[in-house]
Amino acid sequence: MYLKNIPRALSFLFKDVNTYVKNSDSFYLTFDDGPFNTTTPLLLQKLKKLNVKATFFCTGKQAEKHNDLMEMIISHGHIVGNHGHSHLNGWKTSLEEYVCDINRSKLKLQTNLFRPPYGKLTWKQYQKIKATNKIVLWDNMPGDFDTSLSLSQVTSNFKKNLKSGTIIVLHDNPKSIDKCLAILDSISSEEIKSLKFETLNCLL
Ligand SMILES: [Zn+2]
Repeated sequence: MYLKNIPRALSFLFKDVNTYVKNSDSFYLTFDDGPFNTTTPLLLQKLKKLNVKATFFCTGKQAEKHNDLMEMIISHGHIVGNHGHSHLNGWKTSLEEYVCDINRSKLKLQTNLFRPPYGKLTWKQYQKIKATNKIVLWDNMPGDFDTSLSLSQVTSNFKKNLKSGTIIVLHDNPKSIDKCLAILDSISSEEIKSLKFETLNCLL
């Protein structure tokens, strides 16, 4: 079970969680869990070919292993967000341990953008973290990591939810990369020109 497309109406309850970018005509691609040396360079190549910029929510653990890939992400004009050091599930982790984990990766990644792994935070974690971070979730989750979904299902999920201001979550981990790249391939060159894809710099 995972949180799929988070309804925009929910932002009324969680005012400091960004599930989409308000008053924006742009589209926001985000990639979670990397970087990985077997997949991230392929993704960067694809984004370059499409001429779009995106946001990479990296884990501190992966970032520490791959300084070269972190530099590559930045040099391609993308930005980096914090996805915690060790990808903890907030619902199963104490406030103290959770905050310590995300502060550790924040130090490495140098960003205030934070995406909770699995989209899961307790109320206390939410209160504490929002004071010094911009919390980012999504409203478009095609499910590239979900092995029970076919490629045509994930592509149709992606297209169905392509609306202005949308924050799309994909994954550059080895398990998801094939579907992730295929979803990007499903955007035709005419669509790419008409849709403006940007980084989440606007939230900072
Ligand atoms: Zn994740």
